[in-house]
Amino acid sequence: MFLRLITLFILFTFHSSLFSEEVQNNKKEIYSGKKLKALLITGGCCHNYTFQSTALTSGIEEKVNVEFTVVNEGGNGTKAKIALYNDPDWAKPYDVIVHNECFAGTLDPDYIKKITNVHKSGKPAVVIHCAMHTYRSAQIDDWRKFLGVTSKRHEHKAQYPVIPVAKDHPIMKGFPNKWITPKDELYVIDKLWPKTKALAYSVSERTGKKHAVIWTNEFGSARVFGTTYGHSDDTFKDQVFIDLLARGLAWAASKS
Ligand SMILES: [Zn+2]
Repeated sequence: MFLRLITLFILFTFHSSLFSEEVQNNKKEIYSGKKLKALLITGGCCHNYTFQSTALTSGIEEKVNVEFTVVNEGGNGTKAKIALYNDPDWAKPYDVIVHNECFAGTLDPDYIKKITNVHKSGKPAVVIHCAMHTYRSAQIDDWRKFLGVTSKRHEHKAQYPVIPVAKDHPIMKGFPNKWITPKDELYVIDKLWPKTKALAYSVSERTGKKHAVIWTNEFGSARVFGTTYGHSDDTFKDQVFIDLLARGLAWAASKS
């Protein structure tokens, strides 16, 4: 009898530990694997980066097993150099880097390469909105090749319909067939780089041209996920947008 009780106790304990592990693993809707470390680099011109950073990190952390570190530097101008990049191992502690910065007027090729070389060697990235106009006037193409798109300007703010074109891609899983953005800017895409795959586009209200607004890129051995939306606070309050970023981050960080 005593032995039976002990056996039952052991079985119960084993089962409940399995169960609690299962509950823990199922906690995050988009990614529940080993905890990821992410670095968000933000700052510069034209956007409310304090609000965006909170919305982005808390929104993604709800659905992805990830812990964010935020570097918000460079003030609110168009030219800055972030000290972090002077350390050649700046990205080493992180599984994925999120770029949501806006420094169109920084041109120094050596500085830009401190960032792109790290990604080229395999550090995954998520690139958002004004990251596409960062280092815009630089002579070298390294940053644009890393992003996967070349864009030099944007069109007016409007509520743009977003049409998915790669519905089977894991990043687009659960994305609506036609999402209308909160008021945001349409970035004019002059060029998609050869390894870029457009996942969704929007149409210019001025020219009727289609522009990729969500895409993936391969840069060296790194996965890059990008979207040109993300101008307004309202976009960062939209669950569709935050979920998109969450799936993009999880995809970029989990190269199989
Ligand atoms: Zn903007």
